[in-house]
Amino acid sequence: MAAYDAIIIGTGQAGPSLAFRLAGAGMKVAVVERHLVGGTCVNTGCTPTKALVASAYAARTARRAAEYGVVIGGDIGIDMWRVKARKDVIVAASRNGLTSALENAANITLYRGHARFASPRAVEIAGERLRAERIFINVGGRALVPPMPGINEVPYLTNSSMMDVDFLPHHLIIVGGSYIGLEFGQMYRRFGSEVTIIEMAPRLVRHEDEDVSAAIKDIIELEGVDVRLNAECISLAKRGDEIIAKVDCTAGAPEVAGSHLLLAVGRRPNTDDLDLDKAGVRCDERGYIVVDDRLQTTAPGVWALGDCNGKGAFTHTAYNDFEIVAANLLDRDPRRVSERITAYALYIDPPLGRVGMTLAQARTSGRRVLAGERPMTRVARAVEKGETAGFMKILADADSKQILGASLLGTGCDEVIHGILDLMYAKAPYNLLQRTMPIHPTVSELLPTLLGDLHPL
Ligand SMILES: Cc1cc2nc3c(=O)[nH]c(=O)nc-3n(C[C@H](O)[C@H](O)[C@H](O)COP(=O)(O)OP(=O)(O)OC[C@H]3O[C@@H](n4cnc5c(N)ncnc54)[C@H](O)[C@@H]3O)c2cc1C
Repeated sequence: MAAYDAIIIGTGQAGPSLAFRLAGAGMKVAVVERHLVGGTCVNTGCTPTKALVASAYAARTARRAAEYGVVIGGDIGIDMWRVKARKDVIVAASRNGLTSALENAANITLYRGHARFASPRAVEIAGERLRAERIFINVGGRALVPPMPGINEVPYLTNSSMMDVDFLPHHLIIVGGSYIGLEFGQMYRRFGSEVTIIEMAPRLVRHEDEDVSAAIKDIIELEGVDVRLNAECISLAKRGDEIIAKVDCTAGAPEVAGSHLLLAVGRRPNTDDLDLDKAGVRCDERGYIVVDDRLQTTAPGVWALGDCNGKGAFTHTAYNDFEIVAANLLDRDPRRVSERITAYALYIDPPLGRVGMTLAQARTSGRRVLAGERPMTRVARAVEKGETAGFMKILADADSKQILGASLLGTGCDEVIHGILDLMYAKAPYNLLQRTMPIHPTVSELLPTLLGDLHPL
């Protein structure tokens, strides 16, 4: 049995960084990966989708060229093979860079295979047993395939198999109107597919405020995406070459016929095939590993980081998990998960930047809430760019003057949101931002103006 100081299972967004830190501190580290180094973000999540979103943006801009006085002779064509090839080059560079960094690092051994616990201190990979006093689980998640009627009768795609698509689906049906479904939906519409998004809830991105959901629906419908809401009972069938999705919606045709089907209905953690019981690591009823505020599991000496602990579902939350574990173990810095502020972006165009509370959450928080809103049509930079869809909304506490949350839907707002996020981490009153001198013309320059317009709810 090979002995290590630490074993890391999975090379997602926390594992490799932790491996480098532990190895740098002189520990002998084993890293185990069963599939592609880099995990979801690098191979089938953030990196490839944002590369594809960029191609879709280029297609849209080319089609709008005349609005800007740019003349393109002939039709705008999309070469899906090249779209995919561009994405593949970006992904491969990231994956290969990480793989070789792990393979060449002093004190790190990279094992390829599926790891399972054999005991609280031992892990087995294809018959080989490794032992360590510290084990870190960073196994991530995979696309959820819900038991919908007919699901086994039809071919379907997930975010992973979408990565192999090098052709243009004639009509892409997407089940799921949240982040993944919306990004793929707008993207494929821009590539030229017909797209129908089917959502069970009465609105898209149901965790956001209603005005955000409505604005996003308007944005994608204006581009020709068909949105079917309230589809509480979806069933699937094959009819000739077509895939039929029967939808129990309150309005519209009772079925949608498409050429391809993408399931984007959520994720499930990769915790069902780790033999966690042999280590005494407990999961909750949804399969997420139970952890404390420093990401320690119910088994002493075993930590869980990233999507598998249910504390976040983003690359930045997984990376922050690494920072928390490393700070506690190596820096005597008692960082905790509860210190972080919710923040994320939705990469449709224009993007949604989100931080902190929604309006609905602020209303039920018991605080006196101030709110301010500004349409992107009143943001000079957006007008100049010809990208005026969306609006910016900020919420603040009337007593402490601290910002409670923001929903910024508009051009550049995946970046602009960081001005708010930094202020929140600094626990500074919002009027501090009103005393700054922002750069003109930017979207961010309107944040102080918007804060000056805050009014009681
Ligand atoms: C389509 C899509 C788009 C996304 N876009 C964004 C975005 O724009 N921004 C953002 O912040 N987040 C985004 N995410 C989410 C982000 O990808 C994840 O939150 C992030 O990858 C965190 O992953 P992780 O570290 O938990 O593990 P993962 O990245 O999922 O990696 C886990 C690794 O563990 C390996 N593994 C699993 N079980 C075992 C085992 N038993 N033995 C050995 N190895 C194992 C897996 O093969 C995998 O490589 C997106 C996700 C998807 C699906």
